[in-house]
Amino acid sequence: MRERYIIIFIVLAVVLLLSAFAALRSRKSIGLSVSWLLTALVPPVIGNMLIIMAEEERVARIGCYMYFVGMSIVVLALMNFTWRYCYGKWPNTFVRFFVLFIVVADCVQILCNLRFGHCFSMEQIMVDGSPYFRFVPHIGQTVHRLVDYGILAVVLLIFLIKIFRTPRIYRERYSVIFLSLILFSIWQTFYIISRRPVDRSMVGFGVFGLLVFYFAIIYRPMRLLDSMLANIASEMPEAILFFDASGRGIWANRPGIELLRLQDGDFDKIPEKVRSMFGTYDEREEWTTKRVLGANANLKYYVLEKHTVKDNQGHINGSFMSIRDNTSEQMQFRRRLFEANHDSLTGLNSRERLYEHIRDRLEAEKLTRFMLMFVDIADFKIVNDIFGTAFGDYVLKCLAEWIRTGISEHAVCGRLAGDTFGVFLPVEEFNELEIERSLKHFVVSDGTISHAVLVHVGTYEITEPGLDISVMFDRAHMALMTIKDEYQVHIAHYDDKMREQVLWNQHISAQMHEAIEKQQIVPYLQPIVDRSGRVAGAEVLVRWMHPEDGFLAPGRFIPVFEQNGMIAEIDLYMWRCACEILARWQREGRDMFLSVNISPKDFYFMDVAATIRSVTKEFGVEPRRLRLEITETVMMSDVARRMETLASLRADGFIIEMDDFGSGYSSLNMLKDMPVDVLKVDMVFLKNAGNSEKSNKILRSVLHLSKDLDILSLTEGVETDEQFRMLSDMGCSLFQGFYFAKPMPEEDFESYSRKGAAEAI
Ligand code: C2E
Ligand code: CA
Ligand code: CA
Repeated sequence: MRERYIIIFIVLAVVLLLSAFAALRSRKSIGLSVSWLLTALVPPVIGNMLIIMAEEERVARIGCYMYFVGMSIVVLALMNFTWRYCYGKWPNTFVRFFVLFIVVADCVQILCNLRFGHCFSMEQIMVDGSPYFRFVPHIGQTVHRLVDYGILAVVLLIFLIKIFRTPRIYRERYSVIFLSLILFSIWQTFYIISRRPVDRSMVGFGVFGLLVFYFAIIYRPMRLLDSMLANIASEMPEAILFFDASGRGIWANRPGIELLRLQDGDFDKIPEKVRSMFGTYDEREEWTTKRVLGANANLKYYVLEKHTVKDNQGHINGSFMSIRDNTSEQMQFRRRLFEANHDSLTGLNSRERLYEHIRDRLEAEKLTRFMLMFVDIADFKIVNDIFGTAFGDYVLKCLAEWIRTGISEHAVCGRLAGDTFGVFLPVEEFNELEIERSLKHFVVSDGTISHAVLVHVGTYEITEPGLDISVMFDRAHMALMTIKDEYQVHIAHYDDKMREQVLWNQHISAQMHEAIEKQQIVPYLQPIVDRSGRVAGAEVLVRWMHPEDGFLAPGRFIPVFEQNGMIAEIDLYMWRCACEILARWQREGRDMFLSVNISPKDFYFMDVAATIRSVTKEFGVEPRRLRLEITETVMMSDVARRMETLASLRADGFIIEMDDFGSGYSSLNMLKDMPVDVLKVDMVFLKNAGNSEKSNKILRSVLHLSKDLDILSLTEGVETDEQFRMLSDMGCSLFQGFYFAKPMPEEDFESYSRKGAAEAI
């Protein structure tokens, strides 16, 4: 009998100590408190064991001390555990030390029994024929019980409050300990009061210890977890669908029910509904996939994810699927992509996107003939300046709209920069007549302002698809540049001649300075004779003896330099050459003049009057010997200033000649205000103008008019004796033309003029 209890008590003590050790190692914050409580339970168990096995009173007495003192320490540990288990910590240090003080005082009081015998004494009794020792309680024992039960009562109260205050889901972990505490306390009390020597309630200690260990260290409230997960699943904005191991639908959250339009609780239909909406799916595997439903404006984007739930052996217990509607993300993504690829003002492709697109199409459709259009608004800056940028933006939008819808259905277009746009389309879709018609009257009106916008288009048919797209657009632009000053023509096509022209322009522009330095650019003189055939002077005409390209007439390079502004340098050089020759003639006493050409562009790049004055001064040339040929285009802009310039030059004694008179728009009317001395009429121009009858009439009236206005007349382009006579009869005073001589080098001119023109004819 005794032995059986002893084995049970030893097993109890070992189990408690092992649990205490495990609690300590659990790394939970409550671990230390649990460990201490479990360890504290051991001494009373051992004490009880000693009492049971005692054959001498001394042993039983030691057992009693261990039991009483141990129990005080147990209630202290229980109090500590209770606070920490229920609230994480003691309420404050006072309570903590107060309880500690009481317990220590009780222990001291118990130990004082050794001296005073006030707490208990021992007596021997016979139980079932065997002798046992048991304690006889005295007054000190009452104090001890008050302390222990007092603390126990407080502990129970703490648990009770916690149980009432905590959410239902957590109650289990408090109420189990609370109830077991009551149970074991009653059991204990029974033995204390009955004073049976074999205290079976010690087994309850062990069970209580293990319950504490379980709830504090191991137990995870599964119901709590379940309800939390269920809550999360039902609160999730995406549809969550659960399947059992066989793939049958078992549950869906609210969004899932709504998405699949399930009747309440009709979870069986989940697989079928998913299939009908999103197509078949793999039931066993885990996967992620994207689906697009609907059409056009009602497109919906979904992300579907399937997960399986497996047990420890890897068997599938079930699975769940989440279906997320990411339409708004997709839309946002698409919008951002659109914004990155499109011009914000016009909504057309950005240049980069257009280039990319062209590259792709050229790659994909190698057999189709494609072309590019470079579209530009003439004088867009002026539109902005006059009407404001808001209207300017509106013009751009209107043009963009026309480009998008008015050219071809299959055209791809983009904004290249500022007021320029690019279009890419199959050649056969290019309808030149239609485009020309649209651009002829391209009027933009916003209700208040109405403005005819001049739009030019340069095209390039893509004959070399390997070229850089920017180079292709450069070519279309090159074509456009040839008509940029035109009002009637809106479309120009690139051809290889244009490219050659550009290359030629670059070629000669790069060499111009060196050519002047090396005197490859030289003046030729074409004699001008009077009615008697005497050489009165000459026109200075530029020639370029090019080392590689040979003899270049001015037509090959003057227009190029007029375009890029280099003409001013050539002209200045020609004027200097002319002055040098005139200075020599002056010294030699030869009374002849030289006419130099002044390009309209010179006025943009230099102060023409000041330059001419300074050059003539430098060479000491009399102004009347240097005649200045200007064309009527000089007077087309900045009229007042130009008039003034010419007037001041005339005042200085220079003679102003109106070149190519009759070739352009100049009205005869303009002449009366114009400060010119000589009208230079070109027969070649007149001849080209139509029938000779008519041109003779014009010639006659011009010559008459000039006489009336007291302006000298000079006819150039005289090629025949007949023309010479006719012009003489009409009253023309000076003549120039192949009939007399072609332009020639200076030395040739010297001998020609010495011989006299008349002789030469
Ligand atoms: P332009 O000033 O009208 O020069 C007269 C042009 O008519 C010259 O051509 C001359 O060779 C040509 N010509 C003279 N007599 C006849 C004739 O009987 N029949 C025909 N068919 N043609 C004749 P060129 O020298 O080729 O010069 C062409 C144009 O180049 C000039 O026209 C002038 O506008 C410009 N140019 C020439 N040299 C210079 C220059 O140094 N500076 C500037 N700015 N322009 C120049
Ligand atoms: Ca001329
Ligand atoms: Ca001329």
